[in-house]
Amino acid sequence: MSTMIDSLVAEVKANNPAEPEFHQAVQEVAESVALVLEKCPEYRKARIFERMLEPERTITFRVPWVDDNGNVQINRGYRIEMNSALGPYKGGLRFHPSVNMGILKFLAFEQVFKNSLTTLPLGGGKGGSNFDPKGKTDSEVMNFCQSFMTELYRHLGPNTDIPAGDIGVGGREIGFLFGQYRRIRNEFTGVLTGKGLNWGGSLIRPEATGYSSVYFAAEMLATRNETLEGKTCLVSGSGNVAQFTVEKLIDLKAKVITLSDSSGYIHDPEGIDRDKLEWLMELKNIRRGRIKTYAEKYPSSMYIPGDAGGLETNPLWTHKADCAFPSATQNEINLRDAQNLVKNGVQVVCEGANMPTSPGGIKHFLDNNVLFGPGKAANAGGVAVSGLEMSQNSMRYMWTREEVDQRLRMIMKKIHAACLDAVEHFGTPGNYVMGANIAGFVRVADAMLDQGVI
Ligand code: NAP
Repeated sequence: MSTMIDSLVAEVKANNPAEPEFHQAVQEVAESVALVLEKCPEYRKARIFERMLEPERTITFRVPWVDDNGNVQINRGYRIEMNSALGPYKGGLRFHPSVNMGILKFLAFEQVFKNSLTTLPLGGGKGGSNFDPKGKTDSEVMNFCQSFMTELYRHLGPNTDIPAGDIGVGGREIGFLFGQYRRIRNEFTGVLTGKGLNWGGSLIRPEATGYSSVYFAAEMLATRNETLEGKTCLVSGSGNVAQFTVEKLIDLKAKVITLSDSSGYIHDPEGIDRDKLEWLMELKNIRRGRIKTYAEKYPSSMYIPGDAGGLETNPLWTHKADCAFPSATQNEINLRDAQNLVKNGVQVVCEGANMPTSPGGIKHFLDNNVLFGPGKAANAGGVAVSGLEMSQNSMRYMWTREEVDQRLRMIMKKIHAACLDAVEHFGTPGNYVMGANIAGFVRVADAMLDQGVI
C-alpha cells in the first residue's frame, strides 16, 4: 500500500508542479487514508482518492480596480471548487499577497475533509486573491471587492458555492462582496457567510473558529482528566481566529501570554486580560494597527520584531507554556519550533490556523505524547457555524447566541469523538491527525461511491 501511496504522491507532484503546500497536504492525508484503502477495495476500484485530488473546477480571473489616486491596479482572483459530493462548495476567501493556486488548492483539499467532519451537508472549496488589504483605504477595499465579485458572482449561489472569510477577509470585505452580489443578481440570498448580524449573519460566527479550537483542546485535555484552568497558553496571530481563541481561553481561566502579526510578536508575562483583549480588538479590527502598539500601551509586555516566516525558529514558540494555539498561517511551527515547545513541557498543541505545523513538527509532537489537534478538526467550528448561518438563512430565522453556541459545542464534541473512534478502529489510538483524516475521508468517499463516476 505504501508503494501505491508513494506513486500517487509522486504523480500529484508531477501534475501540480510548484505547489508545495498542496503536496504537503496530500502527503499527510494520503498516509492516513492508506489504512482505509487497504481495508476497502471498493474505494480503490472506484479510484476515489485519486478523484479527490483533482478539483471539480478551478476558476482564475482578472480583477482590475482603481486606487484612490486614480491608478489602475490589477490582481488575480481564484476559486477552487474542490468537491461537492456532500453539498454545495463551501470555504473561505483569502486576500493576501502570498495567495496562489497551490496555497488555495491545499486549503480547498483540507476544507473537503473538515466540512465532512462537521457532518453538515457541505462540500469543499476555497478562493481568494493576491490582493493585500493592508494599508488600503476602505474605498480601495470596496473597489477591489466589487470588481472581484463582478466576475465571481456567476459561479456562486446558495445551492452552488457559498464563500466565507479567511485571512484578509473579515466583516468589512464580506459586506462589500455581498452588496455587489445582491446588486448584480437582484436577489437577497445567503450566498456568503460571515454576514453582518442585521443582514443575515449568525450570532457566534465571528467567534466560532477561535472558540472551536479551544473547545477541541478542552475535549483533548478531558481524556487525561485535565482542564484548561490555570494553563499558560501561547497564541500566534492577532486576527479573527487568534482574538476569539484568547477570549474563550480567558473564559475558561487560562492565561494567554503571546500574540503576533507578520511583523513580530508580543510577550505579556502578566497575561492578556479582558480589558487588554478589548483594546487589541479595537486596534486590529477598527484602527487596523500593528501588534507592536500593544507593547507601547502595556509596558508589562515586550515586543519582539521579526518575520516568523524568514527565521529558522520562531521565538514565539520558545516561551514556556502548557498549551500552544497556532492561529496565524500555514507552516508557522517547524520541527525546531516543535522541539522548543516540547522541551518546555507543552502538553497541548491545537491548530486554529490551517496546516500551521510542518510534517516534522507534527511527528515530533506525536512522538512525545503531546495532545495534537489538527486544524481540519480543531478549527472546523468556523465552517460549522457558517453551515448554521446557511440553515438560519434558509429558514429566514435567527437562533439566539446560546442556541448557536450550544450547537457549536455539540459539533466539536462529535468531531472529537469521531476522530477517536476512527483511529480506534484503524489501530492508531489517540492519533487525532489520522482520526480526522480518516473520519473526514470516509463520509466523502461513501457519497462519491453512491453518486457514480463523476
Ligand atoms: P486574519 O483575521 O486575517 O488574521 C491573520 C493573522 O495572521 C494576522 O495577525 C496576520 O498578521 C497573521 N499572518 C498572516 N500571514 C502571516 C504570515 N505569513 N506570517 C505571520 N503572520 C501572518 O485571518 P484569520 O481568519 O484569523 O485566519 C487565521 C488562520 O486561521 C488562517 O490559517 C485561516 O486559514 C485559518 N482559519 C480561519 C477561519 C475563519 O473562520 N476565519 C476558519 C478556519 C481556519 P498580519 O496582519 O501582519 O498579516
